Amino acid sequence: MPFEKVRVRFAPSPTGPLHIGGVRTAIFNYLFAKKHNGNFILRIEDTDQNRFVSGAEEYILESLKWLNIEPDEGVGKGGSFGPYRQSERKDIYQKYAHQLISDGHAYYAFDTPSELENMRNRLKSEKHSNQQYNAKTRVNMLNSLSLSQAKVQQKLDNNDPYVIRLMLPENKEIKFQDAVLGDFVFHSSQLDDKILFKSDGMPTYHLANVVDDHLMEISHVIRGSEWTNSTPCHILLYRYLGWEKEIPVFAHMPLLLKPDGQGKLSKRDGDRLGFPVFPLNWKSQETSEISKGYKESGYSSEAFLNFLVLLGWNPGTDQEIFSLTELINSFSIEQIGKSGSKFDLDKAKWFNHQYLQKKPISELREEFLVTLIEKGINHSHLNIDKILELVRERATFTSDFWELTNYFFIAPTSYDSKVIKKRWKENTPKILTDIIVILSALNNFQAYEIETIIKQHINTQNLNMGQVLSSLRLTIVGSASGPSIFDIMVLLSKEESIMRIQNGINNIKK
Ligand code: GLU
Repeated sequence: MPFEKVRVRFAPSPTGPLHIGGVRTAIFNYLFAKKHNGNFILRIEDTDQNRFVSGAEEYILESLKWLNIEPDEGVGKGGSFGPYRQSERKDIYQKYAHQLISDGHAYYAFDTPSELENMRNRLKSEKHSNQQYNAKTRVNMLNSLSLSQAKVQQKLDNNDPYVIRLMLPENKEIKFQDAVLGDFVFHSSQLDDKILFKSDGMPTYHLANVVDDHLMEISHVIRGSEWTNSTPCHILLYRYLGWEKEIPVFAHMPLLLKPDGQGKLSKRDGDRLGFPVFPLNWKSQETSEISKGYKESGYSSEAFLNFLVLLGWNPGTDQEIFSLTELINSFSIEQIGKSGSKFDLDKAKWFNHQYLQKKPISELREEFLVTLIEKGINHSHLNIDKILELVRERATFTSDFWELTNYFFIAPTSYDSKVIKKRWKENTPKILTDIIVILSALNNFQAYEIETIIKQHINTQNLNMGQVLSSLRLTIVGSASGPSIFDIMVLLSKEESIMRIQNGINNIKK
């Protein structure tokens, strides 16, 4: 490897919110850098001013921060290879564009949009399979290869709009080995003379990207597979700029696919199928419409990150839950699958559920208390930690907690009619009244003791276990759901439990 140090970059364009595919690319870059004690760099590729969306850069920074994968270097952080925003590096690109021209690897082209359109139409009507600006067609167009030097100078002096195009060889194979996807061979006749620079002083993606990767000493280019077809152009640029010995390793990430596997996951799929495709909420400036983020939908950043990494990276074992440190230690580019990974919302929820089980109870409590305060609930008499411990295995999101625990705070005022119909018999009030007597006499009001004494009573009286316990639960919870009724009773207290049973006896009518 020509590089002493691993330096990788995440290079988004600020054209809108970061899609989860981009987030995954950022994470892979981060993991790779950390694994090799390298640097993770954030470069903002904002050369296409027409597609610039304000707020997008801030959004990218916030997303990385939320995921705890902040750059070592780059926009928002600084570093010795800056500036890291391409719009602040215009002069650098200009210099290389002119170097390519003087070395005979690029040329000026003055064709207007309608002239380009005519060229394509003519080639189409002549039944050419491709209508590209390339070694064959450029001779008939308005450029510094077809025009005299004097004419070119005159056009430049006149400030006629131009672009600078890469001059592709006519009949050459361009090969590269991708660390994920394997060997690629492109033929220059399939490619076009890409635009590198425009007369407004801005480079295009291709030139800026290659120049920056080189100057920033990027050792590995880890990016989405949509860039595979641009790579031969990039390789030629390295060659023509005299940097062939320092071409980085390319690793293209396979696509994130729609849940049914049919094509790339898009922003619209999220809207259509009802799940977020962005890490954080995004408010469109044009429509003020809010697209939901994973954060605001209740996912923890650790769960979301773990989920995304496994959509593409295969650890080679059955392990699914990885801390960030474990991911860093285990990660390798070779274990990234070649084919696309289907997005799976249930799996995302599964990860969140798993992480929720491991969260310190103090964190859960803190969030839950906010809900209780919002709802104006008095909870001072209850042990919130124990309540949350009791129900957490049923929760996927912390927002599920209110639904799962509200009966602790508000005694039932109505009772599930289906349960009444099925379980509440004529003798139920009498049985429950006996149970009240038994409970009142119980000194050690603990789950095991309550369970033992109630079950003993049911057995000795030859009662129907399911029926009695369901009725008991109905009086206390109001429905048939919830964790162990004996645990619930302990947390409610003896007095409250007895009061609820009595209320049930008084109020439940068949
Ligand atoms: N600016 C490009 C993007 O938004 C970067 C592609 C690359 O990593 O080379 O995807």
